[in-house]
Amino acid sequence: MCPSAPLAAGGDPTLLFTAAGMVQFKEYYSSEGPLAFTRAASVQKCLRLSDLENVGRTLRHHTFFEMLGNFSFGDYFKQEAIDWAWEFVTQVLRLDPQRLWVSVYEDDEEARRIWENGIGVPRSKVVSLGQKDNFWGPVGRTGVCGPCSEIYIDLEPDPEEMARAAQTSSGFSETGVDPRAITAGPVIPGIGCGRADCRPGCECDRFLEFWNLVFPQFYKEEDGSLRELKRKGIDTGMGLERLAMILQGRSTVFETDLLKPIIDRMEELLEREIPAGGEERVSANVVADHTRALAFAFAEGMMPSNEERGYVLRRLLRRASRRVRTLGARRPLLHKLVGVVTDAMRDAYPELSDKREHIARVTKAEEERFEKTLELGIARFEELVGKLEASGEKRLSGQHVFTLYDTYGFPPDLTEEMARERGLETDSAGFEQEMEKQRRAAQAKSRFVTERVKRLSTKDWTTLSAGGHSKFVGYKKLEEKVLIRKFRWADAGAAAGAACGRRTVDADASGKAVAGQTIEFILDKTPFYAEAGGQVADKGRLISQNSTIEVTGVVRSGGAVVHRGRLVRGQVEPGPYEAVVDLGTRMPIARNHTATHLLHCALRSVLGDHVRQAGSLVAADRLRFDYTHFQAPSASELEEVENAVNELVLEDIEVCDDVCSYAEAIQGGATALFGEKYGDRVRQITIGARSKELCGGTHVRRTGQVGHFLIVSESAIGSGTRRIEAVTGTEARARIVERGKTLQAMVDLVGGAKEELLARAAELVKAREELERKSHHDEKTKAAAEVERILSSAEDVSGVKLVSARVDMASQDMLREAGDVLRQKLPRGAGIIGAVVGGKVLLLSFVGDSLLAEKKVAAGDVAREAARIVGGGGGGKPHMATAGGHDASALDKALATGREFILERIK
Ligand SMILES: [Zn+2]
Ligand SMILES: [Zn+2]
Repeated sequence: MCPSAPLAAGGDPTLLFTAAGMVQFKEYYSSEGPLAFTRAASVQKCLRLSDLENVGRTLRHHTFFEMLGNFSFGDYFKQEAIDWAWEFVTQVLRLDPQRLWVSVYEDDEEARRIWENGIGVPRSKVVSLGQKDNFWGPVGRTGVCGPCSEIYIDLEPDPEEMARAAQTSSGFSETGVDPRAITAGPVIPGIGCGRADCRPGCECDRFLEFWNLVFPQFYKEEDGSLRELKRKGIDTGMGLERLAMILQGRSTVFETDLLKPIIDRMEELLEREIPAGGEERVSANVVADHTRALAFAFAEGMMPSNEERGYVLRRLLRRASRRVRTLGARRPLLHKLVGVVTDAMRDAYPELSDKREHIARVTKAEEERFEKTLELGIARFEELVGKLEASGEKRLSGQHVFTLYDTYGFPPDLTEEMARERGLETDSAGFEQEMEKQRRAAQAKSRFVTERVKRLSTKDWTTLSAGGHSKFVGYKKLEEKVLIRKFRWADAGAAAGAACGRRTVDADASGKAVAGQTIEFILDKTPFYAEAGGQVADKGRLISQNSTIEVTGVVRSGGAVVHRGRLVRGQVEPGPYEAVVDLGTRMPIARNHTATHLLHCALRSVLGDHVRQAGSLVAADRLRFDYTHFQAPSASELEEVENAVNELVLEDIEVCDDVCSYAEAIQGGATALFGEKYGDRVRQITIGARSKELCGGTHVRRTGQVGHFLIVSESAIGSGTRRIEAVTGTEARARIVERGKTLQAMVDLVGGAKEELLARAAELVKAREELERKSHHDEKTKAAAEVERILSSAEDVSGVKLVSARVDMASQDMLREAGDVLRQKLPRGAGIIGAVVGGKVLLLSFVGDSLLAEKKVAAGDVAREAARIVGGGGGGKPHMATAGGHDASALDKALATGREFILERIK
């Protein structure tokens, strides 16, 4: 017994997910060699997206399901497979034979004979179907294929016929089933089309197929002919959910004990019942189905992302998330449902229990991420649909679908679904075009990289010595006697110039570069590490008797290691040169690289083993590590990570490298980076018991040489991807010393002992707050006095109180407050006040409510007129307005102008 193969279809690059029970056995049919076993029976977890649109709408479609199957690889064949299937269905499951129908491939006389003559199924219940329904494969143009035969249950049996059959017990009597022990099975009135000739293969849902027996007996050749296989096989598939529906007498798979508990819990959380039919029931079904798929996928360590499998999971989660909202959820809820999946399935799949917390956390983080954009996206969608409906359009353009995808993260199938609910079509071809446009734009951006590689392959090289080249010797040696094989000027224009004789200063008559020039060169062997795997290149120099070259960069180009450098002395010559790697950069780089491995290891032990390296930079002054994780690690988690790395440093563990085959390394548990290409022979770096990575970089010999590890920053760089920057060795020490100095400077500044710093700083902050409060209070008191003064000096112009005054106030806010008081006290009044604050003029005009009702004057106009005088502008509402200007000397004139303006209006 083995556990179910993972959902993430491992060995098969053509598949995203394991979509059927036979996936893991594929090769057993076409293999010619000896097999470890020739029979198998399995329960396989599967994830299939081909039926996505039907999920929740029909009684029988899923994304996630379990498939039961029995397999033969050149062992038993059709006769046994059919005999045993019938025995299992009628004797073990005890389904009523009267309700069973079968189908065979139209040309498969052998199968028909077995069903009719061997089993005794009446001819009328053995239905012939064509290529489309009853012939399986091949998956590609050529390959293993064969006919199949399916077993169906009639969900709406004719009662009269059933009664007649029971009396005569015709045809099936040999099954010997005690009628009292028969499993009832669901009867769903009205599910069929009601036509007299309705039978398996009909478009209606009356006949539910629950077991497909596939007979892989042919190999389809290039020319389309079918060759008989030496190893004829059997591959059967029975959906556990459909079987549960039949045995439990339910009318849909969603009512079985596999899925019903999820819907029950959903109703509890939503505090409502979901009606039996209609779109809400579809939503509940979709949520139940998707939740199960997500729980299983997350348990395997898959994460939502924008690539391949991860994107499928993201789509499923977003579809479910939206559905659960339409059912009334106001907050993320799916993460509370995944536990139900665990409870229902944990006996068969213990990984669900182990990962229970993790599944819920990943689900919640992704739900919350989607929440943020969902409302905006839905609003945008409604806006678009509103416009379309107003213009009588029936189609959402590709551009719209793309915007929703690109800006709001709406998977196109989600948009499509929402559009369909509103009776609209979507332009999926147009969407693809938009996607293609974006891809092209991204490519154009990365083109300069390609240019750089191309430049390396041009032919302007000068050969100085012959023989092999570019052998890397730098793991063990930092100094080496080397020969230059080829060189060229780094700037192609310089080479052309030299050829025309113009660059006589830089190149001598023989075309050799002379001091001061930047060149590129290839060596017979090199101790310099070329930029690769995120690690920057080594620096150093080449020294011969007559010349010195400073090495500033090293890159790989095809099979060659190309060094870039500056000729600092003499001319370029074949050598031998003494190549010396600069230890001052090599050592810090090595420290950072070893620390990167330790960090990777520590992150996995602290945050969980779903953490994967998503990118890395190993430089001399720092390291940067990108990794997958669904949320920001807490401060204490980060501290734990930092401590874990430093403990490994203190343990002073030996860093071992060895070369082995890729398969050996993976079997030994080494971490390979996803998306990296590895050759047959790989180098693996092992540090202690837990860290083992395929890696070509340079490392320190023992972890103790890392010195100290210090995390400098942690941030998000994309959804589900995070970044840590850290330093080691002397850089870490420098930072710590710097922190100490800053601390001391602060102590010096506030006084007292170092230990009292925090308390003193707190006191200072508090004191400042108090001062501010007091000064604000003083300002207010002063402002109140100013208002009193203004009120007492108000003119009376035929019943209207008119104010114009220069005031002493510290801010726009104070002016506003004064304005409010003035308006209250002078309902039939108006005026303008002004202050100079920091050299600038602030103005405020107001009109009291009862004067405002007379519609003679508006505050906005007053402020604008007055502001003109001080060289500024402004405006506002009719009851109150503010303005500003820079000419402080004109304030009095501005106030007078404002007063005149009001006077004219109220006369
Ligand atoms: Zn029908
Ligand atoms: Zn590495």
